[in-house]
Amino acid sequence: MATFTSFNPRTGQPGASRFEDATSEQVAEAARRAEAAFRSSRHQQPADVALELSAIADELDALGEETVNTADRETGLGRPRLTGELARASGQFRSFAKVCVEGSFVEAVVDHARPDRTPPRPAPPRPDLRRMLFPLGPVVVFGASNFPFAFSVPGGDTASAVAARCPVVFKAHPAHPETSQLCGEAIERALAASGAPPGMFSLVNGRDNRVGEELVTAPEIKAVGFTGSLRGGRALYELAARRAEPIPVYAEMGSVNPVFVSERALEARLDSIAEGFVGSMTQGGGQFCTKPGLAFIPEGGRGRLWLQSVASRARELDSAFLLNAQARDALAAQVEQTSRLPGVEVVAGARPADGPGFTYAITVLATDDHTFMNTPELSQEHFGPFAVVVRCESHVRQLEAARHLHGNLTATVHAESSEVAELRELVDELRQKVGRLIWNGYPTGVAVTQAIMHGGPYPATTVPLHTSVGTSAIKRFLRPVAYQSSPEELLPPELRDSNPLGIMRLVDGEWTRDSS
Ligand code: NAP
Repeated sequence: MATFTSFNPRTGQPGASRFEDATSEQVAEAARRAEAAFRSSRHQQPADVALELSAIADELDALGEETVNTADRETGLGRPRLTGELARASGQFRSFAKVCVEGSFVEAVVDHARPDRTPPRPAPPRPDLRRMLFPLGPVVVFGASNFPFAFSVPGGDTASAVAARCPVVFKAHPAHPETSQLCGEAIERALAASGAPPGMFSLVNGRDNRVGEELVTAPEIKAVGFTGSLRGGRALYELAARRAEPIPVYAEMGSVNPVFVSERALEARLDSIAEGFVGSMTQGGGQFCTKPGLAFIPEGGRGRLWLQSVASRARELDSAFLLNAQARDALAAQVEQTSRLPGVEVVAGARPADGPGFTYAITVLATDDHTFMNTPELSQEHFGPFAVVVRCESHVRQLEAARHLHGNLTATVHAESSEVAELRELVDELRQKVGRLIWNGYPTGVAVTQAIMHGGPYPATTVPLHTSVGTSAIKRFLRPVAYQSSPEELLPPELRDSNPLGIMRLVDGEWTRDSS
């Protein structure tokens, strides 16, 4: 049986515990238990689900220092950041508890029968139709290495799936197995104590791709939530499409998060934009999916000064810890190739760093707009403390570069308010490419609110219709079903005339919380 352990990114030392890849039988059993749980969970009342979610939040809050220290040992991301991330994770469960109590997320619509429509608007009779969203069924979730809490075991995918009443089989990331175990046990404790069906959540370990592949192809599984690399997300998406019964794969993958800087912005605040950019691109060792990995600046004196300012700040910071040896080696190999491309200049880093652990130098490459548009490698995510700065001949060339971009999670514009009118075309172009547009800010740091959009066109995700952060993320695990001419007793409470839960509904074309 294959076993594995985590490694401390600061020292390269292995963790104390060893973990085993789940056997095929264990994978099949987890999927079967999830299906059995779904037969109960789909009948649960939203208020009961809210209690489960709140219980999970409490258990996560109780994990405290020991778990934060474990996560720090396995990721090197630092205790302050990880303490905040754990609080954010429990906060997500509380937000979804509120969503369940409020109840309108099911998008109930009631169109009463109109058997005999008469003048002045004669029309064919129509039957009674009532529609709402129902859970898809058991879900497999894959967590990413770079957020051991917020995009891992207690992350938004788990929270939104449980809120949707979908049992979760979680494939733990092999880079932080001890953290995953502590969080998984906390979730299982909370679910058991609040009376959730057994099998509502289970954790499966695996270093070998076989484990994830078997989970995605298990017939009981009805959807996949994935956060990770483009390569992994794409592989699992294709695998799910080849199943006898294809299922949706909500893969949230990498992004280069372009930043556009105008001449007038540089005139007004050259140094502060350079400082903010380097801070954002190196946060968490540059291992944020929202890391700004591309900047488009005006060519000329101020653009040159900005690049110098960015390069000297990067050299001053020197290097960052990568999450694991694979992440460091992948970055080193990719930079080795990218930095040698014709028309590309190294302005900082592009070398391994001295010292123990999985470090790499903070790296900034520069190029011109013509080279950028003819070199696809420059638009690819380099996961780590890395960015490419593109000098653009003119505002029009910035616009052309924007048209050249693939799908991304975010795009940022730094400009002055006097330029708003002339930048409209650029902003409209960027809107086609991303899920979130940022004005005079930085893309790292994703607020968990109802209005957030964390997603975007491919290759940022496989399904650009949804967000994976914020309460709307629940929609990924729900599907609409309409009841036609159904007896009242067969309807779920949300669709009954009496509206016993008092939720907001669209009844005969009018929004109301009233009974009908
Ligand atoms: P990863 O290597 O793709 O791993 C993610 C998970 O998927 C792991 O459990 C991994 O297991 C599994 N996996 C990957 N390929 C597989 C395959 N072919 N078959 C079966 N299982 C497979 O990603 P990562 O290194 O942890 O995360 C870094 C990436 O995530 C970056 O690109 C980052 O931008 C992205 N990310 C995106 C978001 C977002 O919201 N869009 C958030 C955070 C991170 P194994 O390791 O055992 O293969």
